[in-house]
Formats: sequence, structure tokens, C-alpha cells
Amino acid sequence: PAIFTLFDLKINNDTMIDAVDWVMSDQNIEQGSEQKLNGCKIGCFVNVNSVNLTAVDPQLSKNLNAADRSFADGSGLRIAAKTLGINIKDNLNGTDMLPHLCEAAQAQGISIYLLGAKPGVAIATVKNLLKLYPKLCIAGVEHGYFERSSDSNAVKRINQSNADILLLAMGSPLQEQWLKDNAPQLTCRTALAVGGLFDFYSG
Ligand code: UDP
Repeated sequence: PAIFTLFDLKINNDTMIDAVDWVMSDQNIEQGSEQKLNGCKIGCFVNVNSVNLTAVDPQLSKNLNAADRSFADGSGLRIAAKTLGINIKDNLNGTDMLPHLCEAAQAQGISIYLLGAKPGVAIATVKNLLKLYPKLCIAGVEHGYFERSSDSNAVKRINQSNADILLLAMGSPLQEQWLKDNAPQLTCRTALAVGGLFDFYSG
């Protein structure tokens, strides 16, 4: 199926290509829905860690289920889906998706804003990405340690940068809550919650 539920979490059973196309797409109306989305589309990754967290954090479940797309991340979900007779098409995680996103973004002139991780980490990620994708357009970079009362300032900076895609790396459940609260005000196409992605790409 295109969409199924696992541990009460909605999963979109996409291939990597479908997922990247969706992230890049400029539609503000989700396919198959009449409803115009407010703000940007929200994409999340669901993995075994999310399942564990949602067991004690019902708000995270709500936030994940309210995302426009939730991608199945990791072999734990694949095995759990298999027990229901469901075949997950692709293992979709931020680490594997980022090269595809950068390639598509560079080719299409789509800009990326990196928000999250400790000071210096997102910048180091950008430096590494620019070595591989020298024409990649980086709209902005900022670390993920600020008071929630400053959220609107971050939203302003992102919107003023004219970013197309926001990569938000604050970890679960904070990033999903941040997107629930702030995505309606964002003017980018898509915001993707990517957890510890920048830590991984900054080394
Ligand atoms: N982080 C952040 N702001 C915070 C708390 C965490 O930017 O207030 C960052 C942290 O530096 C790390 C990421 O969020 O880069 C969380 O990584 P983790 O691997 O724990 O997240 P997961 O992938 O498990 O959701």
C-alpha cells in the first residue's frame, strides 16, 4: 500500500525517487487532497527510536501523524511491516536521502537552509556538501540552540532567505513540535525533520 499504519504511526511507503521528488516539488496542495496546505509541507522520518518515544509521548505521535509525509527509516520498521505482510519499498533516512536531495537541488537551482545541531556543526556540513556539490545553493545556516520564544525570529530569517527546502536537525521530539508550531508560517516548499543528520555530515 501507498500508506499504512505501524505502531499507530502513519507511514508513506515511498521509493527514494518518489520521496525526493515530493520534497523538491513546489505543490502547496498535497496530492489526493483538496485541502490547500498552510505554510510548507512537512516531511518526517519514522524509525524504531520514534516508535519508542511515541510510546510515552502522545504529542509526538500526533505531530508525526500530522506530517504530510512520514518515511520509513531503518530495518526495525521493515521487519515490523513484514509481520503485517507489508513490503517497505525503500529504507528512507536522512543520511541516505541527503546526497539525492543535494543532487536534485543543485541541478534544479533549489536552495537549502540548514537549521539545527550545535554551533559550528551545520556550517561544517555545508562546507562538506559544497565540496561534493559546488553549485548547491545554500540559503542559510544556523545552529539549533535558542529559546522557543525566538522561534519567530528564526522563521523570519528562513523566509527572508527565500529558502526552498528547510532541513531541521533538532532531534525528536523537538523538531516535530517545532514544525507543528512553525511550519504554518514558513514560506519554503518543504521542511524535513532530519534528527542528527548534520552531526553525521560535519566530520
Ligand atoms: N539539537 C538541537 N537543538 C536542541 C537539541 C538538540 O539542534 O535544542 C540537535 C543536536 O545537536 C543533534 C540533533 O539535534 O544534532 C539530535 O540528534 P539525535 O541523533 O539525538 O536525534 P535523532 O536523530 O535521534 O532524532
